[in-house]
Amino acid sequence: MNMKIKVNTNFSKLKESYLFSEIGKRERAYRAANPEKKIIKLGIGDVTLPLCEAVTTAMHNAVDEMASKATFRGYAPEYGYDFLRVAIASYYKNKLGVSLSADEIYVSDGAKSDVGNIPDIFGDNTVLIPDPVYPVYLDSNTMAGRRIEFLDGNKENGFLPTPDGLKGEGYIIYICSPNNPTGAVYTREGLKEWIDFAVKSGSLIIFDSAYEAYIKGDYPHSIFELEGARSCAIEISSFSKIAGFTGTRCAWTIIPDELESDGKLIGKLWKRRQATKFNGVPYVVQRGAEAALSDTGLAQVMESVKYYTDNAAVLAKLLSDKGIFYTGGTSSPYVWLECRNSMKSWDFFDFLLETANIVGTPGAGFGSNGEGFFRLSSFGSRESTLEAVERLNKLL
Ligand code: PLP
Repeated sequence: MNMKIKVNTNFSKLKESYLFSEIGKRERAYRAANPEKKIIKLGIGDVTLPLCEAVTTAMHNAVDEMASKATFRGYAPEYGYDFLRVAIASYYKNKLGVSLSADEIYVSDGAKSDVGNIPDIFGDNTVLIPDPVYPVYLDSNTMAGRRIEFLDGNKENGFLPTPDGLKGEGYIIYICSPNNPTGAVYTREGLKEWIDFAVKSGSLIIFDSAYEAYIKGDYPHSIFELEGARSCAIEISSFSKIAGFTGTRCAWTIIPDELESDGKLIGKLWKRRQATKFNGVPYVVQRGAEAALSDTGLAQVMESVKYYTDNAAVLAKLLSDKGIFYTGGTSSPYVWLECRNSMKSWDFFDFLLETANIVGTPGAGFGSNGEGFFRLSSFGSRESTLEAVERLNKLL
């Protein structure tokens, strides 16, 4: 058939997303040629520990409710059940000292979806995206045909770009802290600089706090801990990395009630968008998410977070001992290191695979400033992390 429809030509501007497929290809080829070698995977960005008991018990109970005519539920509310919105608001209040009203919280099936969908409600603005960073910001704005400028993260600024030198106004600015892939986390002062810039320039910050639970020390977990944020920021967060929900799917976006631009309330636009294109997160999942934020649930999920951060600390210590430059490793499940002898990211990938049988993630896959850097993840087991450290200790 000779179809006459036009396709979205912005898709041809997307870079081929070959990062994880190329990693898999090289790993398989090495495995085939060296079947006796034991490969350790430190490339995964996915959690590996199971859901905690508080969560699975709540989900089992919710499944039972779905099996009875009296307690069955159909479509979930588009913005989330009140019980979960209230539980998230309480988490912010009790853990982060941030007051939110439950109806400023919009529950969704993933931070990836929200990050990717939020451009729907904005017009023709220049978008500022850190480099390196989680690739979804760039790809979703490229699909939407937006003008994109990069914020340089590098060794000099510790992979935490600042607004210094920005002259324009009306930007949409993505900030990810703790950052994937670099693990770098903004201080209160660093994040406040962005808020002040956004307020002054009439810009909007989209703050991705998916790794908030990994923060150790006095860093902001939520942008709303800082003065001025309610007038210029949206926050997107997720149950994926705090509670192991990567396969279960539940997240949230916070839009302050008064946040407004162009005479329009941003929350109202998002409500309209979600009500049209989204039909809510399953009841069973929302009950599980609610349980993750209960006192018992939080104690249990934070045990898993500690397991991962202890792994990260072991990796970070080795790099410190070796005098290798790195970021992350303390407030993040990721350790971001400089490749040895100025190697390129993919050359270092091959070097580690062939000499230490370790698979990591080449930094170049997260933006051009990631070239020459490499991401190791702490989502593996303690045993494999310790073995990897032993191998790296001999090699580096
Ligand atoms: N934001 C960042 C920075 C991430 O690294 C990820 C996943 O790796 C996500 C969002 C996606 O989260 P979710 O599983 O809720 O879609």
